[in-house]
Amino acid sequence: MSATEAATHLRENPFSLARTQLQRVGETFGVDPNLTTILADCKKTVEVSVPVAMDDGTTRVFEGFRVVHNVTRGPAKGGIRYHPGLTRDEVKALAMWMTWKCALMGLPFGGAKGGVVCDPKILSSGELERLTRRYTTEIINEIGPEKDIPAPDVGTDSQVMAWIFDTYSMNVGHSVLGVVTGKPLSIGGSVGRDGATARGVLYCIRTALQKEGRRFPDTRVVIQGFGNVGRNLARLLSEEGARVIALSDTKGAVVNQYGIDVPAAIAHKAEHAVLEGLPGTEDATNDDLIELECDVLVPAALEQVIRVDNASRVRAHMICEAANGPTTPAADEILEDRGILVLPDVLANAGGVVVSYFEWVQGLQEYFWKEYEVNAKLNDIVVRAFEETWSARERFGTSMRTAAYGLAVQRVAEATTTRGLYP
Ligand code: NAD
Repeated sequence: MSATEAATHLRENPFSLARTQLQRVGETFGVDPNLTTILADCKKTVEVSVPVAMDDGTTRVFEGFRVVHNVTRGPAKGGIRYHPGLTRDEVKALAMWMTWKCALMGLPFGGAKGGVVCDPKILSSGELERLTRRYTTEIINEIGPEKDIPAPDVGTDSQVMAWIFDTYSMNVGHSVLGVVTGKPLSIGGSVGRDGATARGVLYCIRTALQKEGRRFPDTRVVIQGFGNVGRNLARLLSEEGARVIALSDTKGAVVNQYGIDVPAAIAHKAEHAVLEGLPGTEDATNDDLIELECDVLVPAALEQVIRVDNASRVRAHMICEAANGPTTPAADEILEDRGILVLPDVLANAGGVVVSYFEWVQGLQEYFWKEYEVNAKLNDIVVRAFEETWSARERFGTSMRTAAYGLAVQRVAEATTTRGLYP
């Protein structure tokens, strides 16, 4: 059995993992068990069927979800994922992580997530548009600028957000900019949103390096995933002078110990749809990539890629989780015992939701900011959250993950106590 097959075999239920994390954090930070019990469940899970007229004249029915985990601190916020392997429990876990992420960043949002079980790569643009519009219509009573605000995630992009915005707006009779974030600039998107998640990752890595008196030019980075986050991060890192020594996509990895020419990699991927065969690099597998010796390993693809079966072979000095949930709790313990610093997802990849918040604020005010303002405010929020997490880690003698989750859970728990349990 290859490591990738083993990964599929070993894949644990993501919602159980998210609950295990919450349980551990609740105990470490002394959160009232009654509150942990409330937070261990999602407020609302909606499952819809999405019939779509396909180009070949047949009708296919897709399964869709929208899950709200918590709205104690404000409207729910969370992306929409189009992926063939999507499950309800995965969406629930992702919704819970969004609650912690928003709370850690100090945003006035709760957590949500949604998605449709489909492979967007094999759908035509027309099929994708009909699927998106029907899915939006099915969840139209769940979403809204004061209720629940979707955004892009794996397999969705600004065009999908534009269709959601248009479908919602046509139904209510006027344009509602605040219903969705990650929109194209021409219809009320925010400058800086596209690269925001990667930029947040960059700020986290930079702050962590500074703690050790290091800088980007002496840093070797490995990135798994070359989509919105991985590609933008590779570009930003190479602009900062870091050496990006490996990149990957679903087809596999490309490696050059002396540093990959990132603009050439972006052009190669655009032309050939894969990184494989990038001149000046050697091909490798995604499993090899996780085990490469480097200063910073950035998983920027899917969940559970660092597991109990490969955590002891990770040779990175630091892991920065651009993807959501890339490390299982058991692997986390191994990494912690080995002294590998892990910057957790709720901190590392929060740049996207921070700029989504900026987009929502700009949409409500119909007043748009300049890119340097967006980036400067993003830097302030991410670095503040990093420093708060770093000091909680030192105060409680724990990992960055437990510290980040601890701060977030404490904030949501405090808001719940202050509001009181309804009725
Ligand atoms: P994307 O769909 O744009 O890109 C995903 C990339 O991962 C693609 O290059 C794909 O080829 C690669 N990939 C998929 N499966 C893989 C595998 N098994 N091995 C290696 N590579 C694989 O998605 P994205 O928006 O870049 O999101 C990536 C991760 O970051 C996800 O976990 C997502 O939840 C998280 N995230 C994204 C944002 C955002 O703003 N886009 C925000 C926060 C977190």
